[in-house]
Amino acid sequence: MSLTGLASDSTTSTGMASLAASQKKIILLKPRGFCAGVVRAIDVVKIALDLYGAPIYVRKEIVHNRYVVEELRQAGAIFVEELSEAPEGARVIFSAHGVSPAVRREAVERRLQVIDATCPLVTKVHLEAVRFAKQGYTIVLIGHRDHDEVTGTLGEAPDAMVLVSDVADVDRLELKDPERVSYLTQTTLSLDDTKDIVRRLMERFPKIMGPKTQDICYATENRQLAVKAVAPLCQALLVVGSQNSSNSRRLVEVCEKSGVPAYLLDDKSEIRPGMLENVTTVAITAGASAPEHLVLELIDYLKSQGYSELEEAEIKEEDVRFTLPADLETFVPKLHPVGTRA
Ligand code: SF4
Repeated sequence: MSLTGLASDSTTSTGMASLAASQKKIILLKPRGFCAGVVRAIDVVKIALDLYGAPIYVRKEIVHNRYVVEELRQAGAIFVEELSEAPEGARVIFSAHGVSPAVRREAVERRLQVIDATCPLVTKVHLEAVRFAKQGYTIVLIGHRDHDEVTGTLGEAPDAMVLVSDVADVDRLELKDPERVSYLTQTTLSLDDTKDIVRRLMERFPKIMGPKTQDICYATENRQLAVKAVAPLCQALLVVGSQNSSNSRRLVEVCEKSGVPAYLLDDKSEIRPGMLENVTTVAITAGASAPEHLVLELIDYLKSQGYSELEEAEIKEEDVRFTLPADLETFVPKLHPVGTRA
């Protein structure tokens, strides 16, 4: 982990020992905030609005963040829960969480002009589900019921898939052919909880097959690793993110498992007096769908409350980018450099 002093009222550049000894300090975790899938999804909506003009319909929240959704709504995007709410022939964007084949079929039937902002790492899980189903496996999907991503993935092979959310669910599983079982996971789960669930699956189904590479995405993993590394150095963690953001909620849980209280906040206005009582070192991170300006506003607020030192703790370098859907990529150079609009 590298620690970097940032511009602040009392900037320091120190090692671990002085960190522990300092007073009223903020540790800013890195990586934090937007992942490549979120940048891409937001870019898709903004470019589509630039190219085609409003209205552009977006099925479900493009990413799970209140601020992002509101900003795009003001720019002309119309968010709908189901395709039936968009007029026949309209232009519709699928969110970063992906959709089931049934939704794609409905879009064709209603002659909708689809732009797909599904994160490529979610698409990877869908393709694995299709592959395992074709090979005759029962697929155990580890994930959270009713999350948009899980709903979409389950739709790839509804007759071949079962959902589990914890070890107790695994214990209750009754599968017709225990010799031919595979598992996949939601991309934004807790790494540790998922390991426990997979371990139990392997005990119950020794021949179980897993994905070729881990389904939990790089952004989820890196943000959790950063929280784990810094939790011992702070007395509280503030996670910027919305309540329906799965990866943000996991960051809170990971920190709490280390014995340090953590709070999920949409923005600085949600700080309550008790949260920082007797806290001399507070850490800040942000979920993969939370805009950086909210982090900066939170820092400014904390400075006004006496947290005058600011250090950035970089746990891992992150430099992932995804290309845009082909139909938009063609237009991008004329408009803006990719990834700068988020
Ligand atoms: S959190 Fe991971 S899976 Fe979700 S959009 Fe970001 S990169 Fe993709």
